[in-house]
Amino acid sequence: MNSHRYSGLRAVLTTMHGKGSVIVPALQSLVGLAVEINSEIDTDRLGTFTNEITRKGDMLETAIEKARLGMAAGQCKIGIASEGSFSPHPVVPFLAINRELLVFVDDASGVIIKEMIASEDTNFSSIVIKPGEDISGFLDRTQFPSHAVVVSPNQPVITIPGFKGIVDRSALGPLLHQCACVSTDRTALLQTDMRANFNPSRMKVIQHCAQKFGHRIASVCSNCAAPGWGIVDVERGLPCSVCCNPSNLVKSEIFGCVRCDFRTHAERSDGITTAEQIYCSYCNP
Ligand SMILES: [Zn+2]
Ligand SMILES: [Zn+2]
Repeated sequence: MNSHRYSGLRAVLTTMHGKGSVIVPALQSLVGLAVEINSEIDTDRLGTFTNEITRKGDMLETAIEKARLGMAAGQCKIGIASEGSFSPHPVVPFLAINRELLVFVDDASGVIIKEMIASEDTNFSSIVIKPGEDISGFLDRTQFPSHAVVVSPNQPVITIPGFKGIVDRSALGPLLHQCACVSTDRTALLQTDMRANFNPSRMKVIQHCAQKFGHRIASVCSNCAAPGWGIVDVERGLPCSVCCNPSNLVKSEIFGCVRCDFRTHAERSDGITTAEQIYCSYCNP
């Protein structure tokens, strides 16, 4: 992207957990931003995955707050931050969904640009165990030790907050024992560590999101020239390939501006124009 409006401008990315390694290259190459990293701000106080601190706002509010903390500290008009969440898969048991959100706050132009993706490629999982119980299945499934784990008492106690970023197999036994001993139910909680720098699967999802994010920031509205043009909604009703009645699948993508009301409809970017019969409630009630 040559001579983009943000080319050479300073921006601050607030991240404690090493996300700069995948976000900065995308924004430098696609938008030309000169991104500085602020890793000093304790973003964990806005919420943690291990629930010692519950997130107060939703993902978007939290990400914007994080970006603004870095902007204030760095006296910078442009801030970037990311926020992730994990939840059980809505349809498939034992699978989880990782959602990643990136926000770009530009106080000079008064725009906030966001990008979000969802991925099933996550090891998000936890088990409650008694000391001495076999955990090898859990460790294999969650890709330990390339992906770290967190050990804590199953019934939270103030004296032991939990041990994070554990990648040493020999440390696990003693830690599980120690945590189980102080828990009122004598069990320990073994969880995957979802912080990006301890979880390569999550880092890959953030990297994918950062690419889409860069393209979106670099796209401008043809009506008002604001940055951040991109998909804002979808229209459902993809016609059945047999009876042509509308299905619940996405028919077209709606592109929109972050500043004005301009919208356009476009065909699905994957080129699919009809729904298979199995998705049709007329052919397949
Ligand atoms: Zn516009
Ligand atoms: Zn049909």
